[in-house]
Amino acid sequence: MLKIRNIQAFYGNIQALRDIEMDVREGEIISLIGANGAGKSTTLMTICGVVPARHGEIFFDGKNITNMPPDKIVALGINQVPEGRHIFPFLTVMENLDMGTFLRNDTDEIKKDLEYIFELFPRLAERRSQAGGTLSGGEQQMLAISRAIMTRPRLLLLDEPSLGLAPIVTRQIFDIIRKINKENNTTIFLVEQNANLALHIADRGYVMENGAITMTDTGKNLLSNEDVKKAYLGI
Ligand code: ATP
Repeated sequence: MLKIRNIQAFYGNIQALRDIEMDVREGEIISLIGANGAGKSTTLMTICGVVPARHGEIFFDGKNITNMPPDKIVALGINQVPEGRHIFPFLTVMENLDMGTFLRNDTDEIKKDLEYIFELFPRLAERRSQAGGTLSGGEQQMLAISRAIMTRPRLLLLDEPSLGLAPIVTRQIFDIIRKINKENNTTIFLVEQNANLALHIADRGYVMENGAITMTDTGKNLLSNEDVKKAYLGI
């Protein structure tokens, strides 16, 4: 579904991505793990067309999407929930969700998707008229994920969904991510510092160090890999 080939990206003269090669197959959950500053967020932003690739190519369903404008990439079925969530704090929950539908005009289907979201996240249903900024951190993460689902992505990119959340809320969010993947057949590309959770949920994982992919395997194998255990699982 997504093929990343030899991608290099830079911030000024500083190289953030070094010949990245990754594959995401339809229906998978892929986790990208690595330390702070490894280049995980940059990888997602390059896929979305926000950070330019200076070298290499990205294909989605065989179509070359390298450096396409971000709105065109969203229209093709890729959406990102950025780190820090970025919901609209002064808009209500409902209005935030409406923002996810700006490219759609299938009113009946939008209604169905809203019902699905309120079933996934009853908290959001209860708070539908409340301003986004007054929600708890976990609820804001739920809202950010829901807004992305409203665009009906085939590939959902999630940047650090666990950031700043209590362990119990993080677990809820990860359960929902798995549900969205299974029930909605949405392919998930997850960037996480919580390597333990990320690899448990993943079909396959990639490990990133200093802007390069250093390891890839099934989530299960990475969890039992001695180097991964030492560096990322604190074992
Ligand atoms: P984190 O988990 O801390 O977000 P990360 O693995 O997502 O880390 P990136 O945010 O992709 O890492 O950063 C990769 C490198 O690029 C780092 O060295 C970072 O300092 C640098 N970088 C990121 N954003 C910018 C920017 N806007 N301008 C300059 N350098 C940047």
